[in-house]
Amino acid sequence: MSDLIDGEAVAADLRAELQSAVDTLADADHRPTLATVLMSPDPASETYVSMKQNDCEELGINARDIEIGVDEPAEELFETIAELNDEDDVDGILVQSPVADHVDYREVLERIDPEKDVDGFHPANVGRLVAGYPRYKPCTPHGIQKLLEAEGIDTEGKDAVVVGRSRIVGKPMANLFIQKAPGGNATTTVCHSRTDDLAEKTRQADILVAATGVPEFIDGSMLSEGVVVIDVGINRVDADNEKGYELVGDVDFESASEKASAITPVPGGVGPMTRAMLLYNTVKAASRHSGVDVALP
Ligand code: NDP
Repeated sequence: MSDLIDGEAVAADLRAELQSAVDTLADADHRPTLATVLMSPDPASETYVSMKQNDCEELGINARDIEIGVDEPAEELFETIAELNDEDDVDGILVQSPVADHVDYREVLERIDPEKDVDGFHPANVGRLVAGYPRYKPCTPHGIQKLLEAEGIDTEGKDAVVVGRSRIVGKPMANLFIQKAPGGNATTTVCHSRTDDLAEKTRQADILVAATGVPEFIDGSMLSEGVVVIDVGINRVDADNEKGYELVGDVDFESASEKASAITPVPGGVGPMTRAMLLYNTVKAASRHSGVDVALP
């Protein structure tokens, strides 16, 4: 039976450490501020944004909430971003994705001041990550690095297999794994929908990160004994319960846990870490912006 990797517990420890950094900044008259901008056709986005704001408020980070109607012109969003870029009180800016269909998300990302880009998605921040001197690491892969570190799972010399090559999870995860740095030094394979004989690749993994968005896609038959399984997926599937649905990952938990030495649950694995790392990046942005040094976990 595999060990369950408790993302809630690790995220709670991280938040406690970040609390001291927020207090240090507040004592120096610089309470961190995160501005969230919502212009999304997806009803779930509102929930995600309010969760992020609650997380901020719990730590004493100011959360600024800006909502723009989905039918407004793109210019409205771009002007808001420009204003937030210029506002000295704002340390971090997060534009919740997806944005309205008529808005080019790439342009949105490029307009955010890279110093305030707490998602780490601006091309300048992506470039720095790839080059090996990251400013803000994207929250989900950074959270996974922290989770592995907290569990005492060394990545050095390991075979890491990342299934998925998205801009927000797969690619930055692979980039972090290959860095010549703590939490890196892994020999890394990136798989995607055009990968031939996927199971042959996933069976090579000492550490497997599943980020496909396909419910319970990776099962035990695709894994080798002793693998560490990190399940990024969050999928709603129909269920015979009060809510009418349940959340499952991209990994078939039951069969995978028969092979894995350690595995993340869904929910309660990667999700809480993603949220904690947004706070981390906001505190880091506030520290960079104010020039007040803080100890980051
Ligand atoms: P995307 O849809 O952007 O990317 C999915 C990736 O999986 C693509 O690279 C795709 O390949 C690959 N893929 C899809 N089907 C297959 C297949 N059959 N075989 C191999 N590869 C496949 O998803 P995201 O990266 O944004 O998200 C992945 C999952 O993680 C989702 O469930 C999402 O909800 C969840 N998520 C969870 C977070 C958390 O905090 N826990 C944060 C972010 C996401 P190709 O490129 O060839 O199309």
